[in-house]
Order: sequence, then structure tokens, then C-alpha cells
Amino acid sequence: MILDQISFLTAIGFSSAALTVTLLVSWMVSRKDGYLLSWSIGMALIVFGVIAYSMLDQYVPAVQLMSFALLMAGFTFIYAGAVQFRTGTISIPKVFALGSSTIGVTSIIFALNYSGIATATANFGIAQLLALAAYEYWLGRKEAPLPLALNAALYAISALSFALCGLVLLVNGQFVLIARPQNWAEDINSIVAIVGLTGIGALSLTLNHSRAARQHRSEAMTDALTGLLNRRALFDAHGTSRLEPGAAVIMFDLDHFKAINDRLGHAVGDCVLQDFAALIRDGIRPTDAAARLGGEEFCVVLTGLPQRSAAAVAERIRAAQELAGIAIEATVSAGVAISGVDGDTFETLLRDADEALYKAKSAGRNRIHAPGPRLVA
Ligand code: GH3
Ligand code: MG
Ligand code: MG
Repeated sequence: MILDQISFLTAIGFSSAALTVTLLVSWMVSRKDGYLLSWSIGMALIVFGVIAYSMLDQYVPAVQLMSFALLMAGFTFIYAGAVQFRTGTISIPKVFALGSSTIGVTSIIFALNYSGIATATANFGIAQLLALAAYEYWLGRKEAPLPLALNAALYAISALSFALCGLVLLVNGQFVLIARPQNWAEDINSIVAIVGLTGIGALSLTLNHSRAARQHRSEAMTDALTGLLNRRALFDAHGTSRLEPGAAVIMFDLDHFKAINDRLGHAVGDCVLQDFAALIRDGIRPTDAAARLGGEEFCVVLTGLPQRSAAAVAERIRAAQELAGIAIEATVSAGVAISGVDGDTFETLLRDADEALYKAKSAGRNRIHAPGPRLVA
């Protein structure tokens, strides 16, 4: 070994301490990300566990038990953070049961004076927690395949190195310890711990950062009231592009919406907008785009359609709104524009749809106007 075990433990302790502080500060900046707090608490417990472990020069089983209890509690928090990161929530009783059962079993074996078997058990317990965390990141890998798969791999390797430590003790028949265990598995474990800590720490912070960036991007593209795309997002997606022949743009505008606001209040008006957005969502396919352009105006872009069914989609949504808004006479008008044989630009189709909408309004509202596809550019 180039470095002795104490040097390794010191290095592990210091890098964990630095990570604890970094995670805590990250959590203070973004308190809704509870996993940052769990990771930070986990890391803090690990620091204390490592300090206790490095004090084991005169071997005292009670101190070793305390150090393992702290490590197991720490890794329980690290695992809890993994669950929170993937699912957004955590069942505290379940995590508590997991942590306390591992600590409980280890304590009983220590109490029976089989400090070697107890140490192996603690190592297996930690390995299990790390493997469970690895599995969580693996399950969630769709969000960011490379960093999450790498994170899962680092957790899995760390799990393996702890399991090896336990296994070597048992295979060597060291059921009762008189000193802190020192063998090749412990050496590997120290190296893996340093590499794992640094890698996992950096990856976790990167993952947190990229998730926040993605969330901001998505918020900037979303209409806050209805959850549909906003005007900017729709123009970003279709702006100047030509839509395929047969694709359609539908403009919806709620009828006499000002009167609904005046009669029933702005809050009811907002609910009508939200309910209508839900009707649109139900009426289109996930590959279509739906946006609130502003006020009570909505736009839908349908692609991959046989030519005439755009009118049917618009009519179905109109009829659904007539039914849903019957009590307060909240109806909607729609204008449909269909891309011609050469394909028309989104902006042209939007203008055409707007003209068609105007015609639907002039003809008495609560109806759709759907002329055929453009014949001239
Ligand atoms: P028309 O049938 O001709 O479309 O009449 P209208 O009253 O719907 O049209 P107008 O454009 O005159 O009124 C739109 C109203 O939409 C005016 C505004 O108070 C209301 N509005 C715009 N944005 C919101 C919103 O976010 N929430 C609510 N509740 N009302 C809004
Ligand atoms: Mg309007
Ligand atoms: Mg209107």
C-alpha cells in the first residue's frame, strides 16, 4: 500500500466534509430539492462515522459499532436521497425501517461479542444500501442516460467493495476482531471510496444542475394558467417552417369571453380557460401541438393527418366545449387552415386560420369554419 489506512480515512473524511457543505449550500439555494438535504445529512453522518472509525487504533468494539451505525445511517440517507431524486417523494417509515434494521442486526451481533461477524454484517448492510441506490439511478436513467448510468455504476462498484470487505472477513474466519480489519479488500474499499465519493459528488451536483436548467426551460415554454405551450414555444417549434401538405392549424377563440368574466368574475373565467385547455388536450394526439396564444385564444397544430379530418377534430372540441360550458353559455368558435400540396408556412396557415375564425364569429359563433386546403401560395 502506498498510503496507510489512516491517510485514506483522512482523505475520505475531508472530501465527505467538503461534499456535505456543498450539498447543504445547494439545498439552501433550492429548498424544494429535498434530495440535496438527504444527501448532505447522509454525507455528514458518514464524516462522523469515518472519524470514529479512524479513532480505532486501540480496538474498542463499541467505538467500531458506533462508527458503523453512523455509516449505515449515513448511507440510509444517501439511499433515501436517491429515491427522492427519482420519484420526488420518500416514505420516511420505510427508510427508517431499512436503516434501523441494518443497524439493529449489527448491534445484536456486536453484543454477542462476534465483532468480526458484526463487521461483516455492517459491510453487507452498507453494500445493500449502496446497491439499492445504484438501482434507483439505473431505474431513472432515462432522464440523463450517461450521467445516471455512470452514477449507478459508481454506486454498484462501491457496493461491491463493501460486500468484499465483509466476505473476506468471513472467508478468513475472523469472527472476532482484535484490531481494525486490514486486508486487500479494505485497501480496495478505501480507493473505491475516494474515487466513488468524488465521482458521485460531482455527478450528483451536475444532475441537480441540469435538472434545474431543464425545469427553467420547460417553465419558459409553458403557459402558466393552462399548462399548454405558450406563444413563444409554438413559434419556436413551427415559426417559419413549412408544414407538410395536409397538416392543419386550428385557431380557437372563446365566445363572448369578456361577458363571462364580467358576469361571473375573473377567477371563473380562468377556470373556463383551464377546462377548455383540458378539452383540447383530450381531443388531440400527443404528437400534435397545442398552445394558448394569449387571453382566450388557443392554437392547435395537427400533423400526420388525412386532409379533411382537421375539421372533425375542431368540431369535436367545439361540441365538447358546448356541452361542458352549457350552464354558463361558454362556447367556442374555431377557424381551420390546411396546408396545400406544396406545404405552407406556419405563419401563413396561422393567418388563414385567423381569417377562418373571423368568419366563424361573423356567422354567429359557436361554430367552426373550415375551408379546404390552400390552392395558391
Ligand atoms: P368574441 O366572442 O368576439 O371573441 O368576444 P370576447 O369577449 O371573447 O372577445 P374579447 O377579445 O373582446 O375579450 C377577451 C377577454 O378575455 C377580455 C379579457 O378580459 C379576457 N381575458 C384575457 N386573458 C384572460 C385571462 O387570463 N383570464 C381571464 N379570466 N380572462 C382573460
Ligand atoms: Mg379574442
Ligand atoms: Mg373571444
